Amino acid sequence: MKTAVIIGGGASGLAAAITLAESYGRKDLKIIIAERMDRLGKKLAATGNGTCNITNKYCTPERYHGDVKAAQKIIERYPPEAVTERFLKIGVLCTLDKDGKMYPFSRQASSVLDCLRARAAALGIAEKCKCEVTAVKKKGDKFLLDCSDGEKITADAVILAAGGKTAPSLGGSDSGYTIAAVLGHTVTALSPAIVQLKTETGKIKPLKGVKTDTKITLLSNDSVIAEQTGELLFTEYGISGPPVLQISRPVGAKKGSYRVKIDFMPEFSENQVRDILKRRKNDLYTGTLESFFTGMLSKRIGQTLAKIALSRQLSFKISELIDNDLDLLAKTIKGFELPVTGTLSWQNAQVTAGGIPLDQFDNQTLMSKRCAGLFAAGEILNVDGDCGGFNLQWAWSSGITAGAGAAAYLE
Ligand SMILES: Cc1cc2nc3c(=O)[nH]c(=O)nc-3n(C[C@H](O)[C@H](O)[C@H](O)COP(=O)(O)OP(=O)(O)OC[C@H]3O[C@@H](n4cnc5c(N)ncnc54)[C@H](O)[C@@H]3O)c2cc1C
Repeated sequence: MKTAVIIGGGASGLAAAITLAESYGRKDLKIIIAERMDRLGKKLAATGNGTCNITNKYCTPERYHGDVKAAQKIIERYPPEAVTERFLKIGVLCTLDKDGKMYPFSRQASSVLDCLRARAAALGIAEKCKCEVTAVKKKGDKFLLDCSDGEKITADAVILAAGGKTAPSLGGSDSGYTIAAVLGHTVTALSPAIVQLKTETGKIKPLKGVKTDTKITLLSNDSVIAEQTGELLFTEYGISGPPVLQISRPVGAKKGSYRVKIDFMPEFSENQVRDILKRRKNDLYTGTLESFFTGMLSKRIGQTLAKIALSRQLSFKISELIDNDLDLLAKTIKGFELPVTGTLSWQNAQVTAGGIPLDQFDNQTLMSKRCAGLFAAGEILNVDGDCGGFNLQWAWSSGITAGAGAAAYLE
């Protein structure tokens, strides 16, 4: 009897284990998923705020970072349509939204996990929870694994699917990198990505809890690093929301100093905003700054920007606004700048940027070039995607590749 151990029972580990069981042609294989948490797939169950953005129809290279070329070959071999077809076979009906994001029709991440676990159980794959693999040694053709529950396992193949450092409460840890290093691999610098940004907070204190549609630009000196539109949320530490998560990657990597420019009226040019304000001055002549933006911007945003742009009390009369005041207000609405001071921690990030370089693995099978019989999949590798289903797609494509590769190796 042969044994294969999958280290990590997350998205890529489950995909790898199921593919290995389905691809292996004989009956003499025991497959064990070793998972350090008390349940499999804790992170998977939390994805997409519990709805699981399972993949994205448009998994193009621009949506990925790290070893993009090598990753793209693997994604092309098992693209989103092949993945959703596999999911359909195990019961998960997927649906597409207008941006190309795909979700289970149930909109329940837990249901994706349930279907994967049911398929794994039907294939006889053993789940071993609360079992952290603490060390792996290679002796001849065999792997010797030490587990935190005291058990020692001898395996013929190991698939390292231990994920990244993000969200420790959902299983994130760096133990997979340590195992890989002992078996001869290197790991690039690691940083949190898809994460909230910390900014100077003095000016935005009154905006805490306010959500608004904006265009947000990440700048380093005067270079535009990234730009996104969408709903931004002001918080006690800085800013959050989908467009913020999407531009956060360079800040997490801490290369350089950054600031963000927020455009509160992306549909209008600065000149158009100035014209709108001139007209408002005439129409609302008898009012004060307190109500100048009412009906145009959210109340707290309007009043806060007015105070910042003009350093005046809200009781200031609209009739006394001069052209220069209107220019300053238009500039602030179109380009409100905030220095960025960092990101939130690993606990808040959705993905790890960096990992084990893909050129240390065979691209067809994801078998290590440094340790025969060792395979790797998922976030532990030096590939991360933007927000929008791209990271799970990588977990599925690489998991399937490693599972199929391990089956071929064991046969
Ligand atoms: C809150 C949140 C929401 C997200 N939403 C989305 C989304 O909607 N769409 C999307 O595409 N991506 C999303 N992501 C990212 C996505 O979840 C991950 O990229 C993906 O789960 C990575 O899969 P993985 O199998 O490589 O790692 P994981 O899913 O993290 O699984 C690794 C597993 O290995 C276990 N483990 C680690 N070390 C050991 C060890 N030594 N021994 C035993 N077990 C070990 C861990 O406990 C963990 O369960 C989200 C991430 C977070 C944190």
